[in-house]
Amino acid sequence: MSQHKVFANRVRQFVWPQSRCPVCGSLHNGCGLCDQCHELLTKQNLCLHCPTIIPQGTVLCRECALGIKNPFLQGVSGYVYEGRLRNNILNFKYHNKSELHRPLALLLRELVEQRLPYQQFDLVLAVPVSKQTMERRGYNHMQLVADILAAELKLSTSPIALRRVRYTRKLNKLNRSEREKELVGAFNADSKRVFGKNILLIDDIFTTGATARACTEALLAAGSKSVYLATIASAVLQSNEKYRKQIDKTRACSDSLKL
Ligand SMILES: [Zn+2]
Ligand SMILES: [Zn+2]
Repeated sequence: MSQHKVFANRVRQFVWPQSRCPVCGSLHNGCGLCDQCHELLTKQNLCLHCPTIIPQGTVLCRECALGIKNPFLQGVSGYVYEGRLRNNILNFKYHNKSELHRPLALLLRELVEQRLPYQQFDLVLAVPVSKQTMERRGYNHMQLVADILAAELKLSTSPIALRRVRYTRKLNKLNRSEREKELVGAFNADSKRVFGKNILLIDDIFTTGATARACTEALLAAGSKSVYLATIASAVLQSNEKYRKQIDKTRACSDSLKL
């Protein structure tokens, strides 16, 4: 470890009490990611167009390789949606663990600073929840993250620039086309707040991308100049697992040919 890093760690130990890394749960000094998860974040191989984490040595996820277009300019994601991070996101979203908003916001800050042209952004917007969900939970978990993230990046945020104007069924049991249909007209953006702006849209999980696409389309329809997407985690899709197996099989074949 370099002298500089040793010194930085000592400063952190002095300034911050120990906290748990939101990804792996290990105790460390500081708030946000532990050193190992920080390193993993820099090494993740992301699809060129969307936030799907893909096998090393590939450039596009299966969906993007098949030509499915996303209206956001670029999308990034931190980690695969599994293990401790998955539990943390579920607790944060459904079990009142609103204190997780700070470490998750710091995770997104690192991701955005590493992967996106954040100096161009004007506004950080969270994917909105419906009025019914808001009443039930008492908070929009991603708006809590957006508040911290915007402050960290010295940008603005607004909980009313993008709204969910129609209640939608839970999407997790629906397939891709059912999700797209369910979300038609579900979001509305306020052109007075978003016109001509470069937007950073944030969400917790990227699954099929239907929600992010619907939000981006609403923002572009209201005159936003550009929309970038950052999500905490990317769900491993079955199709992507198949893709991974196909890639492994192809590699195994080419390796055996070399022998
Ligand atoms: Zn960690
Ligand atoms: Zn992709």
